[in-house]
Formats: sequence, C-alpha cells, structure tokens
Amino acid sequence: GLAYEYLWPEQTGWANKAVPFFIGFALLGMVQFTRSLLLTRVHVPAIDRLVVYAAAGSAVIMAWALLGSYAFAIQIGTAGAMVIALLVVTTGVLSLRRGVEQARFFMLAWSCLLVGIVLYVLKTFGFIKSTPFTEYAMQIGSAFEGILLSFALAHRMRLLKDENERVLAQGTATLERRVQERTTQLDQALLSLSDANGRLMQLSHIDGLTGVNNRAYFDEQIAFEWHRSLKAHSPVGLLLVDVDHFKRFNDTHGHQGGDACLRLVANTIQQQLRNPANRCYRYGGEEFVVLLPNTDTAQSSAIAEQLRAAIEGLSFQEQGIAATVTISVGVNAVIPSESTSFTALIHSADQALYQAKREGRNRVCVVGQ
Ligand code: GH3
Ligand code: MG
Ligand code: MG
Repeated sequence: GLAYEYLWPEQTGWANKAVPFFIGFALLGMVQFTRSLLLTRVHVPAIDRLVVYAAAGSAVIMAWALLGSYAFAIQIGTAGAMVIALLVVTTGVLSLRRGVEQARFFMLAWSCLLVGIVLYVLKTFGFIKSTPFTEYAMQIGSAFEGILLSFALAHRMRLLKDENERVLAQGTATLERRVQERTTQLDQALLSLSDANGRLMQLSHIDGLTGVNNRAYFDEQIAFEWHRSLKAHSPVGLLLVDVDHFKRFNDTHGHQGGDACLRLVANTIQQQLRNPANRCYRYGGEEFVVLLPNTDTAQSSAIAEQLRAAIEGLSFQEQGIAATVTISVGVNAVIPSESTSFTALIHSADQALYQAKREGRNRVCVVGQ
C-alpha cells in the first residue's frame, strides 16, 4: 500500500494491477537468482527444468496482471508464490546435498526470512507478545536474508575467480606445449628443407647426360678458383677437351651410340683425375673442360696426355660398338694476376685446342709451347 500512497496515488487502475504484477516480478527474480547462484543446470539438472518452468510461470503472472482480471491474477500470484517458495527451498536442499558450497548461505538466508514470517504470524495470532522486534520480524528476517545472500554471491564470485585463474593457468601451459611442439615440427621441416635444397643444388650442378658437372657449375667454380689462386699466388691449370670427328661417330653409330660414347669419355676423364680437387665439366656438345687448381703447366700437360692416352685406349665393345675415339686437348696454366682474367685463360686454351685439331687431332697442345 505504500507505493500506492506515495508513488502513484492518482492511478488506481495501475495500483490494482501493480500488486499481482510485482508478485510475479519478485517470483521471477527469485527463480532466476536461485538458478544462477546455485548453478542448477550443472549441479541439479533434474530440477533445473522445473525452475525454468517456474520462471515462465512468473512471467505469465506478470502478463496476466497487466492484461487479465485482477481476481484471477492475484489467485495465481498467491498460488505461484507458494509453489515457487517450495521449489526454491527444495532446490536449496538438493544443492546442499550435492555439496554446492554457496547453498549453505542460500538456505541460511531463506531460513532467516522464514523465521521472521513465522514470528510475525505467531504475533499476529496472539501466540507471542507483540514487541517492536516481533512487529518488524519479517523486515528484520528479510534484511538478514539480503545480507546472507550477498555473502552467497561473494562466495560464488570467489569460486568463479578461482576457476578463471585455473583455466587461465591451464590454457597457458597448453599453449606453451603447443608452441614447443610446433617449433620442433618447424625445425624438422626446416632441416628436411635444407636437406632437399642441398640435393637440389647438387642436381643443378650435374649434367643430365654424362653425370659429370655441368657448364653452369664450371662458370661458378672457375671464378671462385681464379680469385682463390690470385690471393694464394698459385697456378690454375685448364684443359679444354674436344672429341675428334664426333660428327662422324654420330653418323656411323647413331645418336644413341654418340650419347653412350660421351658418357664413357666423361667417366673416363673423371676417373683419371685422381685428385678430387681436379674436376671435369661438360662444357657443351662433345667438349669437356678440366679445372686443375694448384697445377702448373708441366703438371697440366702430363694430366692432359694421360687423358688422351686413356681415351685412345677405350673400347666400346660393351656398348656393342666396334669403334675407337680420340680427343684433342688444349692446355693452359697461369698464375692469376690483377691484369688478367679467367676469360683469357679459357680463350688461350681454346686456341691451343684448335692448334691440336689443325696439327692432326688426337694430341695435346700447350699454350706457349
Ligand atoms: P672435330 O674433330 O673438328 O671436333 O669434329 P667434330 O665432328 O667432333 O666437330 P663438330 O663440332 O662439327 O661436331 C660435334 C658434333 O657433336 C655435332 C653434334 O651433332 C654432336 N653432338 C653434340 N652434342 C651431342 C650429344 O649430346 N649427343 C650426341 N650423340 N651428339 C652430340
Ligand atoms: Mg666441338
Ligand atoms: Mg669435336
């Protein structure tokens, strides 16, 4: 009646509706509070469904209060209050039995209100004396209820905070482990990638037909060797090798036969070069170049002669070809200086090779001799 007296004394229509409306509103609040404080969905799922229905029922009471008749609204409001009070207490007891901690505060709080109501009723019916305490027993009980429910809320907040921290710590640990795993995987991938890269690199240095090093690799190596020798003041030897009358060989034995010949010549040259620092490269077509680090003219000539003899002695029987093949070799060896370049080294060797061809092939010609 206080609200009617002070807040809306003019609006009698609304004052009528307000009582059942706020009964429904209070019930809805009570039900929702119980649900979220006791986490009924998790701890007492069996009763949670009833609690949801109770919330819906409270909403119906509110709606009826506004739209329906007062008489019926106040009836369902009162009945609803009874049912929901029982439901809330039952939920509290069940939660307590399930060991839900905040249910202790919850039950204590409701008990305070209940004791207040009982005292007020006893006073009203004259079973106990009317004192200021019994007069306000309901309000006092309600106040204690409020205080205890605040404790329950605080307790629940603390639980949530603890849970949050635990989840956070767990998440961090999981994250660290995942990062570690990924890092290991990445390291492995990187390792196999560099492995593959290495193999690819090697492959890109190899001539497909003969299996010896290719022209691209020679261009790299000659530049490297030239600069190294320039600093070390050591000689670099170079042999330019050309198969004699190879066109004729091809014409006689076919292109396949020619290929087999090239493979055999390349392998023979490679085998003859016992020092691993000396390498054979396919320079193009039926031409090969041999790079000889730390090798002077005399040593280079000797190696060239050795190669020439080895090729001359080759037999192609295994390839099913009754033929012999010879090579001409141009030899050049210099100690690099700032005023010269490796292009000149190659050019002079080429001239020596042409000289060998002119002089009748199957021979070694040395620059400057
Ligand atoms: P020369 O003694 O003056 O060097 O005579 P040649 O016939 O060897 O000289 P030329 O440079 O005219 O011929 C080279 C031949 O090598 C021509 C070409 O068909 C052949 N040839 C080049 N590359 C390959 C190859 O990969 N396989 C085969 N089977 N033949 C090749
Ligand atoms: Mg040629
Ligand atoms: Mg040739």
